[in-house]
Amino acid sequence: MRKKTRQIHVGNVAIGGDAPIAVQSMTTTYTRDVASTVAQIHRLEEVGCELVRVAVPEMEDAVVLSEIKRQIHIPLIADIHYNPLLALEAIKQGIDKVRINPGNLLQGRKSLEQIVLAAKERDVAMRIGVNSGSIDAIDKVAQMQRVQVRLRDDGTLERSDPAEARRKERDHLAERMVTKALEYISWCEELDYHNLDVSLKSSTVLTAVEAYRRFSERSDYPLHLGITEAGTLVAGSVKSALGMGLLLADGIGDTLRVSLSAEPEEEIPVAYEILRSLELRNRGVTFVSCPSCGRVEIDVVGVANEVEKRLTKVQTPIQVAVMGCVVNGPGESRDADVGLAGGKGKGVIFRKGEPVRTVPEDQFLDAVLKEVASLLPEHEARLVYPEGGIKEIAGTHRTRDEGRNIPILQK
Ligand code: SF4
Repeated sequence: MRKKTRQIHVGNVAIGGDAPIAVQSMTTTYTRDVASTVAQIHRLEEVGCELVRVAVPEMEDAVVLSEIKRQIHIPLIADIHYNPLLALEAIKQGIDKVRINPGNLLQGRKSLEQIVLAAKERDVAMRIGVNSGSIDAIDKVAQMQRVQVRLRDDGTLERSDPAEARRKERDHLAERMVTKALEYISWCEELDYHNLDVSLKSSTVLTAVEAYRRFSERSDYPLHLGITEAGTLVAGSVKSALGMGLLLADGIGDTLRVSLSAEPEEEIPVAYEILRSLELRNRGVTFVSCPSCGRVEIDVVGVANEVEKRLTKVQTPIQVAVMGCVVNGPGESRDADVGLAGGKGKGVIFRKGEPVRTVPEDQFLDAVLKEVASLLPEHEARLVYPEGGIKEIAGTHRTRDEGRNIPILQK
């Protein structure tokens, strides 16, 4: 059961309540470089990003926000650290939401009140974005505890229990994060401003999970989920899926951002995969493919990756299977909307549970994408399957007789 939070609106996107869990990302361009920033946001929009955040480190970045907003189609969020004047300018520029960090907002409450009054006047939403790193920086007690924990981990205090010490440290930090968020919320509420959501991010999965759980028990403001500085594509995806998965499975979370050291466009498919896996959103392609093994006689890995790459812009819910052999291939392909079940240098194409034809391996890509396109609305079908078909070949020729991969074209 999803926890019922109050609903806020960020531009035309509802967050919280019974609204779908919204997927967002953040640009990596210099915001003042309007052309590059807008181009990146357009790429994000194409793969399903529903809200976008841009960094506003200096006034040069703040003053171009209206120009960026004019050229994009999704709500724009300004990410502010330290200087409240940047938030005030961003709000003046017409952004939809401002993110502030309680751990580093200069002049704390005084600055927050200025920002809240401006946001209220223009009906701009706000994220109170607590980050364990910046909370720790102002928390002397937490710093001391970390030192003690390190000493214990080094074996200096032999009777200590490192796991227990880490748990205590985590609980303490999570509590500090929640307390800070609630303090900022109470200041907002005193000004009758409630257009808020909250994040409690940490690069340590269990700290973030603990903080979100504690907050969720004590407040009904919507939650923006994230594991901050999660890492590169693989590590970051796994940590995000774990942390957010634990929370989402508990019904906690109203919007999310997967943070990766990768192009932001790569964050969006990961976010949707997390939500699809928990049956919380069904946008886009649910992909089923086998890892392949010593039975396989087609290049499943090559074909599956190429098919998946070409379907990233599809928003219509559809299930596609690419399977290596007769062990599980026909079953999974039958269950999918479109399936490929590999055989010896050829494959059977399934559509809506029925085998429709058998094609050689140099036509796998064309055959699968043609069937997928036939199930999509016209504007998406055009993206997937161009007029005249697909001439390119995915994968290599793989044969057990020879025990090796051979490029199909040299066969
Ligand atoms: S479907 Fe066939 S090729 Fe793929 S992993 Fe299973 S047994 Fe191996």
